[in-house]
Amino acid sequence: MATPLTTKAGLSLPIISVPSGPTLFEAAERVPGETLDDIRADLGECTRCRLHKARTKIVFGVGNPKAELVFVGEGPGHDEDIQGEPFVGRAGKLLTQMIEAMSLRREDVYICNVVKCRPPENRLPDKDEIAVCSPFLLRQLAAIQPKVICCLGACSAQTLLATNQGISRFRGEWFDFRGSKLIATYHPAYLLRNPPAKSEVWKDLQKVMAVLGLQPKKR
Ligand code: URA
Repeated sequence: MATPLTTKAGLSLPIISVPSGPTLFEAAERVPGETLDDIRADLGECTRCRLHKARTKIVFGVGNPKAELVFVGEGPGHDEDIQGEPFVGRAGKLLTQMIEAMSLRREDVYICNVVKCRPPENRLPDKDEIAVCSPFLLRQLAAIQPKVICCLGACSAQTLLATNQGISRFRGEWFDFRGSKLIATYHPAYLLRNPPAKSEVWKDLQKVMAVLGLQPKKR
């Protein structure tokens, strides 16, 4: 039995032990047993934030609904907006190469973004847009329950880890995220601008492969 707390007025308050479980915020996002199709249906032809105004297609996510590995990017770009599929442009081709280097195929993993509509001019999503859209990402992750979540770039890592720290401070480290292991690495678009960083990303992907028991693809 915990010691009661005594207030200044001498009132004795019992300390109630709270069972560990989801916070109210987390619980509100979880709909037990819901599928990716349920979440997509709930998203509908979304107009919850201003990003809907300029979008062509909603980019919900693609891949294996039972994936052990989920990649989370920032938001759709031009090609993704037109095709309705994440990571299909230049950065996406590089992500596909990264996935294949891990001896996986795109269909084996799940790929999605923090926001589902393209931010105009490929700007960063605004805080309020992330706040409105990220609960759908959290529900996707809860439905898939992957072993590993790999955040691509600062936006997804900062959103899921609820931090403002720069990604280079925590890239390649493991975090627990609601029953999954989470690791952040650089975004493929950054690698296109800065190819030497590929070696750092490969180190991060090798950590993911070790957790998933994968051997690198034979050339
Ligand atoms: N960049 C992202 O973050 N996501 C995509 O889907 C495409 C490019």
